[in-house]
Amino acid sequence: MNLEGKVVIITGASSGIGEATAMKLAQNKAKVVLMARREDRLNELKEKIESNGGHALVVTGDVTKKTDFENVVSQAKDHFGTINALVNNAGLMPLSFIMKLKTDEWDKMVDVNIKGVLNGVAAVLPTLTENKGGHIINISSTAAYKYFPGGAVYCATKAAVKMFSEGLRQELAPQYGINVTSIEPGAVSTELTDTITDEDIKEKMSDMQEMTTLEAEDIANAIYYALTQPHRVNINDVYIMPSEQQ
Ligand code: NDP
Repeated sequence: MNLEGKVVIITGASSGIGEATAMKLAQNKAKVVLMARREDRLNELKEKIESNGGHALVVTGDVTKKTDFENVVSQAKDHFGTINALVNNAGLMPLSFIMKLKTDEWDKMVDVNIKGVLNGVAAVLPTLTENKGGHIINISSTAAYKYFPGGAVYCATKAAVKMFSEGLRQELAPQYGINVTSIEPGAVSTELTDTITDEDIKEKMSDMQEMTTLEAEDIANAIYYALTQPHRVNINDVYIMPSEQQ
């Protein structure tokens, strides 16, 4: 896809990978639609993008609410005319050991990490179908393949995203011209661990801080690569890890 003038919705654009992706795509002339709940952070990003000559639209919303997604789609179309791609990036990782039974946190992960992705796909598909093509990028994780302590539920949500992406690709790419990519990052330095409440996990996390992790921009580059291939090339998976991660 030649990104110039293309309209891309990015969920979870208020920090980390989503924010870096919005910057990268806007620098390459895409019109970006920024979705997340923190309006102040989205507005700051919009200003940054616009001061570099880019185009951005802020639409606050919660990915777990279908109506919020419908609003994002309708505002994106009113403002920019259409939608060409969706980056389903919003996610949470409140890791905990199962025996702690933090079931509210399990629910949140299922709601945001899985249902949020499904809601995004459902909201954009009619427009992408109308356009006879487009691209959906889902942010999974290396956690889809590999359990790590406290990650039983998180890993399960990311495995679901990975397999959903494969089903989506098989159903959409050949018949509807909509390419689908699953990105599977290892450890990236972002705010993702801020939601962890389990003290045992927090302690383990601080042990891991010696490692040089990926930067959010590294994942933005992978997303840019997947999006900008010629239409005949579907990048199914990008599995990307810090050199020091095992
Ligand atoms: P951040 O915490 O920096 O970003 C998460 C984003 O998700 C925020 O912008 C947050 O915005 C948004 N978000 C959370 N809940 C909702 C919601 N209900 N509705 C809308 N937006 C929501 O973490 P990352 O950038 O690291 O995470 C981005 C994605 O990358 C996630 O899916 C994560 O699982 C995945 N990932 C991250 C890795 C890492 O090591 N960092 C590794 C592998 C995958 P707000 O709070 O404003 O709504």
